[in-house]
Amino acid sequence: MAADSRNIQVFVRCRPINDKERREQAQGAPILRFPVAPVEDQDPVPGVGRAIALPMGITTQAAMNTSRTYTFDRVFAPTVNQDTVFRSVMMPILDQVLAGFPCTVFAYGQTSSGKTHTMEGHLDLSADGQLSPHAGLIPRTLCRLFDTLEPSRGDQVSISCLEIYNEVLRDLLAADGAVGDLTLYEDKRTANVIVQGITEHLVSTPVDALTQLQRVSERRSIAATLMNQHSSRSHCVVTVTVRTAAADSNLMRVGKLHLVDLAGSESLGRTGTGAATQTREAGAINQSLLALGRVMTTLATKPGKHVPYRESKLTHLLKPALGGNSRTCMIATVSPARSNFEETQSTLEYAHRAK
Ligand code: ADP
Ligand code: MG
Repeated sequence: MAADSRNIQVFVRCRPINDKERREQAQGAPILRFPVAPVEDQDPVPGVGRAIALPMGITTQAAMNTSRTYTFDRVFAPTVNQDTVFRSVMMPILDQVLAGFPCTVFAYGQTSSGKTHTMEGHLDLSADGQLSPHAGLIPRTLCRLFDTLEPSRGDQVSISCLEIYNEVLRDLLAADGAVGDLTLYEDKRTANVIVQGITEHLVSTPVDALTQLQRVSERRSIAATLMNQHSSRSHCVVTVTVRTAAADSNLMRVGKLHLVDLAGSESLGRTGTGAATQTREAGAINQSLLALGRVMTTLATKPGKHVPYRESKLTHLLKPALGGNSRTCMIATVSPARSNFEETQSTLEYAHRAK
């Protein structure tokens, strides 16, 4: 099936510079700029309109006179808040999920560039049940769904969560601690990919949903403490399944949304980013990240060509929600610091190849 490249959207988000980085680069011009396109050339941000002008370009400045501008669907400069990112990225995707289409949103970038902040952010609710202003896409998505759906009509939301580390799948929402090693199985008849035995939690309120997400976050941080590099080398996939009652029949419409916090892009190794030099040991290269790049590039640039979904657990799992009639959105996260310039540039290259 040929994928419409419009079904893939690519965003870049640059986090604010932190104190340590600011001290290190007290002098010198910034390495990133965000040229703003005229407002009339922009699509309105859902729910906000054109009042918020967001750039579509990002310019890297390596040295004097060597700058390069990349364009994307939108670029979020460091001042852009969580709510605006949510509206720009998720509102169109949520319409698709509610219409019953499979969708994937993933954050790609080097460790500490802001993937987890973007996808998860703060998970605490205020005493009166409000999300934190720092809540990321996953909690905002769940709260939005509860606002939109009608449980009295039979609408249902459930979540499951798994982690992929070294091509091994673990259930992060199993009742007695994280459980591995789950197997993937493809249903030939429906073309669905099923994770055998994964726990799916029905959630009916924002508090329910946030409680599950907090469990995931705790389990990930325990794993990170036990094993150095664990969280930067693992992928975390939160899957939200939305079952809605169709108005004119008693069938349920099922939409699936995968929200993915990917392994740090530094674990891709230089070979995967197109550079000729192989500076990292092969063992550190993340198969799933490499395969995801190939799948995205094939979908974006070679419609009709064979897409290598089976090359990794991640791409196999996401197969029904990447390409075809699905919607896919990549958010590439970058640091504004000079010390991260090389990684930032390779992140922009990877993201640009998926466009
Ligand atoms: P990653 O998951 O890519 O390793 P994190 O999301 O943990 O990176 O971000 C690293 C640090 O930077 C965290 O302390 C996070 O709170 C902060 N941070 C990241 N993005 C932003 C942002 N857009 N605004 C404010 N702080 C951010
Ligand atoms: Mg993280």
